[in-house]
Amino acid sequence: MASQEIETLTQALSRLPGLGPRSARRAVLWLIKRRETSLVGLLEALAAVRDGLVECTTCGNVDTSDPCGICADPRRDQRGLCVVEDVSDLWALDRARLFTGRYHVLGGRLSALEGVRPEDLAIGSLIDRVERGGIDEVVLAMNATLEGQTTAHYIAERLETYPVRITQLAHGLPVGGELDYLDEGTLAQALRARRPIG
Ligand SMILES: [Zn+2]
Repeated sequence: MASQEIETLTQALSRLPGLGPRSARRAVLWLIKRRETSLVGLLEALAAVRDGLVECTTCGNVDTSDPCGICADPRRDQRGLCVVEDVSDLWALDRARLFTGRYHVLGGRLSALEGVRPEDLAIGSLIDRVERGGIDEVVLAMNATLEGQTTAHYIAERLETYPVRITQLAHGLPVGGELDYLDEGTLAQALRARRPIG
């Protein structure tokens, strides 16, 4: 019978994406055995995330400053804005500097099934950014899932009246493909071959 402390930690870990109760228990045992080495490093990393990271109020990125490093970087192309579902997608696109403009994180995708409505996503703040002007192109870099594409079309409609070019990633993307699982070559190709949303 595990102690209460171990049980609490196991439950906390099992709520992480991709970790069920069984792998959470295995991770806890692994950490207990390496209390002096790996656990200390993990605690420090967690504390650094807790104390040092904030959400950028402009784009939704997670960084040590607000505005984030990308929004504050004067070398970034102000005229290009790339809209992504989640921060992990932003990181995937930015890892290889595939996109030279700035980003806007929606915080999810529209989903009738999960009850995610437009007002649950950062769509209002996206329209505000476009409305303020200075943006020539909005790249809709949603995942190649049904919900991702529904979201892209919804946003394209909302932006229709603004003088911006609206493009989306080329459909070289595998159907059902999630951006942060793709290799850099595939992502670069999808971005280079981007086309007006139809
Ligand atoms: Zn930002």
